[in-house]
Amino acid sequence: MLKNYEFWFITGSQFLYGGKALRQVAENSREMIGALNAGGFLPCPVADKAAIVTNRSAQEIIREANRDESCAGIIGFCHTFSPSKMWINALCALQKPYLHLHTQFNASIPNEELDMDYMNLHQSAHGDREHGFIGARLRMPRKVVVGYWKDKAVQEKIGKWMRAAVGAAVSRDLKVMRFGDNMREVAVTEGDKVEAQIKLGWQVNTWPVGALAEAVSAVTEAEIDAKMAEYSEKYDFATDDIETVRYQAREEIAIKNMLDGEGALAFSNTFQDLYGMAQLPGLATQNLMAAGYGYGGEGDWKTAAMTAIMKAMGEGLGGGSAFMEDYTYDLEKGLSLGAHMLEVCPSLGAGRARIEVHHLGIGGKNPPARLVFEGKAGAAIVASLVDMGGRLRLIVQDVQCVKPSQTMPNLPVARVMWKPEPSLTVGAECWILAGGAHHTVLSYDCDAEMMRDWARIMDIEFVHINRDTDPIKFEQALLLADLIWKLK
Ligand code: MN
Repeated sequence: MLKNYEFWFITGSQFLYGGKALRQVAENSREMIGALNAGGFLPCPVADKAAIVTNRSAQEIIREANRDESCAGIIGFCHTFSPSKMWINALCALQKPYLHLHTQFNASIPNEELDMDYMNLHQSAHGDREHGFIGARLRMPRKVVVGYWKDKAVQEKIGKWMRAAVGAAVSRDLKVMRFGDNMREVAVTEGDKVEAQIKLGWQVNTWPVGALAEAVSAVTEAEIDAKMAEYSEKYDFATDDIETVRYQAREEIAIKNMLDGEGALAFSNTFQDLYGMAQLPGLATQNLMAAGYGYGGEGDWKTAAMTAIMKAMGEGLGGGSAFMEDYTYDLEKGLSLGAHMLEVCPSLGAGRARIEVHHLGIGGKNPPARLVFEGKAGAAIVASLVDMGGRLRLIVQDVQCVKPSQTMPNLPVARVMWKPEPSLTVGAECWILAGGAHHTVLSYDCDAEMMRDWARIMDIEFVHINRDTDPIKFEQALLLADLIWKLK
């Protein structure tokens, strides 16, 4: 996904200081863009789109950016003063994510070289404040990054925002394929699909399970042989029931054919609607998630879509992102055990996953093959998107994944264990106050800053539970946010 996008760098200036100063501005910006591209911290390239010196040139570049599908966002910086009324028409038309980079070409103040020409050329401190005002005046959602452009911390922040901006582009183009409806009587997996499409761009539509059953039947033995070879390469077989595993291969190929046929990047299904299918897809779904497809169980199209988006945002970071579910607690050790009835993405695994076949007590189908593994240790987040009625709320919690404290020899599914921040009890108190679901996306690659950037771009509420969260202040913040989002 990331390789499909670039970001445009525009430099704010004006004609007041003459041609020589403008040539210097252009040269300095080229050097900055070169360093950003060479730094190794940005997931996408930055393209030089020159200095903006008039209302007309600002409008032209923004219109061009809006039209260009490969432009995932704009980075703006004012080298000199750049009067903001010149920017109003352009910024009012802006449809792409915007990052205001508040930096300066030189890191320090020279002594003898310092005269009024120098002061006029290097006045980001002045020009970026004017630029910041018009952003604030327009109530323009934007990321502000401050610091020296050569610094790793600055480049890393830009890189995270780029991932969020690509997440926004993926979101606005995302198709979710639903097989069957939501699990009967469940509330949190429901939501307003029209509102989700207006805000997030998601095209969430349904396909008959019967059509999937037909697609499953149409898969050839040769196709299954190839898929089985892939399974052997990636996973260990801990079962002799090869026919059951072959059926999962058949299901995986059929689901992928249907997804690719529609250009869908995410899907959901439910164990309550498997008409014509012999097994609930387990291994099939897990291997599709490993390939980057989003999934949500029990008809959870919101988590399916978020899984696809967060996988795209975290591409290349190597940690993994996956559909997850809080299952059971260790209240003594302050840990949560996450799993699902089958469908946990092996990108979270600490080692090679095993293919096992076990009875499944719900769904009324044959025992399905699934991947069983233990999640890796490390810092991660869990994210849950809930529909509050009239608006969406994204809840993100920082967690520390740990090696599971027991071997759990009779648990026939993949498992991940984590310590929620600030603690299991306070974290769960806040999560429940905010209405966070049992389904989440767990990610080692995306952090809260990336998700906050994404939520800002999409214009939805963002809630973060972290090591500093105090439940009393948290509850007050939720009440206030509720009022604000009703007024918006
Ligand atoms: Mn579930």
